[in-house]
Amino acid sequence: MPTLCVLLALAFPGADERPEPGKLRVLILDGQNNHDWRATSPLMKSHLEAAGLFEVEVSSNLPAGGRPGTLKTAPFPPRLEKYAVAVLNYNGAAWPKPFNADFEARVREGKLHLVVVHAANNAFSDWKEYNEMIGMGWRGNTFGSRLAFSPDGKPSLVEKGKGPGAGHGAKHPFQIVIRDTEHPVTRGMPTEWMHTADELYHGMRGPIKDVKVLATAFADKKKGGTGEHEPMIWTVAYGKGRVFHTPMGHDVDGMKCVGFQATLQRGTEWAATGKVTIGLPKNFPTRDKTSSVGSATGKGSPGG
Ligand code: ZN
Repeated sequence: MPTLCVLLALAFPGADERPEPGKLRVLILDGQNNHDWRATSPLMKSHLEAAGLFEVEVSSNLPAGGRPGTLKTAPFPPRLEKYAVAVLNYNGAAWPKPFNADFEARVREGKLHLVVVHAANNAFSDWKEYNEMIGMGWRGNTFGSRLAFSPDGKPSLVEKGKGPGAGHGAKHPFQIVIRDTEHPVTRGMPTEWMHTADELYHGMRGPIKDVKVLATAFADKKKGGTGEHEPMIWTVAYGKGRVFHTPMGHDVDGMKCVGFQATLQRGTEWAATGKVTIGLPKNFPTRDKTSSVGSATGKGSPGG
């Protein structure tokens, strides 16, 4: 079938290229979102490529007649066996059932690891295994438990039906407080650092199984929050799969934060390998000052 092969090669150029030696293969899944995935996926791709470790491909599950993004894409559904880690930038219609089954199995067996960004945790509320993979996400207060933290970092589990469900106030800069200074992703970060204006997700709900919270943020009532510290970076162990989750990253402004960029790079490396070799950039935000990358090219951000 030489003709078919040629046609496929023309239709999906690059989809079957061998990875650059030593690079970790990353797949961004997007194509539907109530957020601007056409702008944020290219920015995340450039953030990851700036670290020098990753080769990034994108697969967009467009709705019928949907306008594609600007990135060259692998077909959807993608061949998951090619990738070490999937970055989820998707909040839309259910994926095909056979793909979900393959996805679940690969994550459970540790063949594919995940990075969950912002509204990806709004997706798939009816998919039981997805809820376990993300740990907690944008759900109503009757959906599952929630984790709230005192100012000194003591977690309390708030039962289903009690307290707020998911929400956020208007975008504003807020401080990230590192709660686990030994985890490879957060090690070496200032214990408090200012994130650029973003939505501060609160009241995340879910099964919260095998979840480890690495950082929180205070959701000020005056800014539409809960008056408590909310989980802001966490990991989930799903079988042998490593899941890295951040509810930060509402839009390009939030993602231009050097702290977001470094967190995404390190979280993705950790998900893919269980380790982090990527250093922190010199212009990392401080306790009082935000820091943004100058452009979507990732330049000006050493990041390792
Ligand atoms: Zn948002």
